Amino acid sequence: MNFIRSIVGKMWLATVILVVVTFIVLGGFLTQLMENFYYNLKQQEMVQDGRRLAQSISQGDNYAVDQLKILEDIIGSSVMVVNRDGLVKSCGGMMGMQPGTKLNTDDVKRVLDGETVTTRGFNAQFDMAMLNTAVPIKHQDKVIGAVLIYTPVQPISQTIADMRRIILFAGFGALMLATVLGFFMTKRLSLPLLQMKDIAHRMASGDFKGRMPIKGDDEIGLLGNSLNFLAGELENHTEALSQEKEKFANIVSSMSDGVITFDSSGNTIFLNDQAKELLHLSDEKLGQEQSVKFNQWMTRIMDDGSSIKGELITSNKIIAVRMAPLWDKEQPVGAVALLQDVTKERELERLRKEFLASVSHELRTPLTYLQGYAEAMQDGMAERPEDREQYIKIFLDETLRLRRLVNDLMDLTQMENGKMAMNMDMLDLGALAQQVTEKMFPFSVEKNVRLLCTAAEGILVYGDADRLHQVLVNLIDNALRHTKAGEKITISVTKNEAAEIKIKDTGSGIPEKELDYVWERFYKVDKARTRKDSGTGLGLAIVKNIIDGHDGKVFVTSEVGIGTEFTCILPLADSGKIQKKAVPHIDSENERKYNRS
Ligand code: ATP
Ligand code: MG
Repeated sequence: MNFIRSIVGKMWLATVILVVVTFIVLGGFLTQLMENFYYNLKQQEMVQDGRRLAQSISQGDNYAVDQLKILEDIIGSSVMVVNRDGLVKSCGGMMGMQPGTKLNTDDVKRVLDGETVTTRGFNAQFDMAMLNTAVPIKHQDKVIGAVLIYTPVQPISQTIADMRRIILFAGFGALMLATVLGFFMTKRLSLPLLQMKDIAHRMASGDFKGRMPIKGDDEIGLLGNSLNFLAGELENHTEALSQEKEKFANIVSSMSDGVITFDSSGNTIFLNDQAKELLHLSDEKLGQEQSVKFNQWMTRIMDDGSSIKGELITSNKIIAVRMAPLWDKEQPVGAVALLQDVTKERELERLRKEFLASVSHELRTPLTYLQGYAEAMQDGMAERPEDREQYIKIFLDETLRLRRLVNDLMDLTQMENGKMAMNMDMLDLGALAQQVTEKMFPFSVEKNVRLLCTAAEGILVYGDADRLHQVLVNLIDNALRHTKAGEKITISVTKNEAAEIKIKDTGSGIPEKELDYVWERFYKVDKARTRKDSGTGLGLAIVKNIIDGHDGKVFVTSEVGIGTEFTCILPLADSGKIQKKAVPHIDSENERKYNRS
């Protein structure tokens, strides 16, 4: 900082100016006083000398030039005596005026009027500044002449000049002293002020640790004390505030929902990590579309102070937003938004609706058939025995279809709710595969499809035989449905780190984009299949649930026109990975058995 602008500089400058002004005023006053004093003293001396001389002349002494010269030497001045008419009677050697010379100056006129005259000024006769004194010589109260005394000013003014010089030197010395002392004193005086300034600066930047060392109980000491008290109080308050803020931040950041706060202009003030994650933000800046949405809501909130419920849709999420105003003295000054990921809820809702629609659809078709044929029979349209037989067969088919649908749905619901009991036991997967192949053989013959089983016996798994039977039946049934006459289906069971069942066909195949969806309930790749060939779309959903229930994996690979291969992987019984589940026994003769007749 500029020295003169600092407090030390200002105080130092003030001291120096004070000293200089004091000396100028005091010096001027003193020299003037001295000058007056010396001149007055000299002039009084001259008047007295003049009076004594005038008195002796009025008493008849007649001073000749020589006498005046002696007198001049004694008093150190020039002396001249003039008569009543202003004519020089006698004059000392210093002036060298001839007797009879007429003097006509103002001083002479005034003195001859009886006045004692003292003047100072330049005298042309002496060609220098002189003190002039003129004393009238009176005889019986009449002016009979005058004594004129002239003394040069120079010795007096020399003395005064010497004095002035002394005063100047003294002043300069004092100034030097004042400069040095003033600097150190102001420095010392301003040091605590500067310390206070530093402490105040630190306080402004949030550091309240600074304290003033108190060295006295003067005003600066008191100020320091007050500053220390202020710093202490502020420290306590900010500490409490930051604790509160931390608590709040902890609460907000540990919330599972996203939180964003906005100021009155709609700028974000705070976003917790969850909000950033939900909105896919890397920093505190909202995306273009999001800003537009939030700004619309903010405008409504600022207008009427109401809370708002809305929804934001990002690339892969649906976010429910609840936004409420932040109040300050009944005036909305911002808003807080709570963000919740409702993607799963919405998806579940969608699936539930779809499921209901699919179930209704699947139920409606057989019911329509049943109703139609029943009405036809009632109307006597099946009079011939073979017609009746055909109608009854349709009734039976549709009833079976309905029953299978209801059974599959019940199974699925139970499995998905985790309520499906599994009758776990050690079983030979190879033997099971052969058994199912045998059972399915007649249907392959019916379709003229070759059904091959290359399952080796002795591959032991820990599982529910009925359920795994159901898995194989469903997969072989699918393969049979989508394989044309003359083609082939291979069932293999192998053992590696786990048991692996593969059902491979050379059928129509499944388009790649559909592969992920075949496990969903009611999902059918070819929606336009004939009613006879078509299933309900629940088979693979059941397969997946059963394999999941065995801690296994199931996946599919397929190529359109080439064929499809389903693979189920199950942990081996001796692998140590199987945990025995306590399950009640299920009647193996229940409806879950394959029945398509
Ligand atoms: P359900 O099995 O309930 O009687 P579904 O066979 O139609 O009916 P899923 O077994 O779940 O239902 O099969 C779903 C869909 O996957 C089928 O509709 C079919 O389009 C396709 N799919 C399944 N297996 C094969 C396969 N081996 N070859 C070609 N497409 C298949
Ligand atoms: Mg099926």
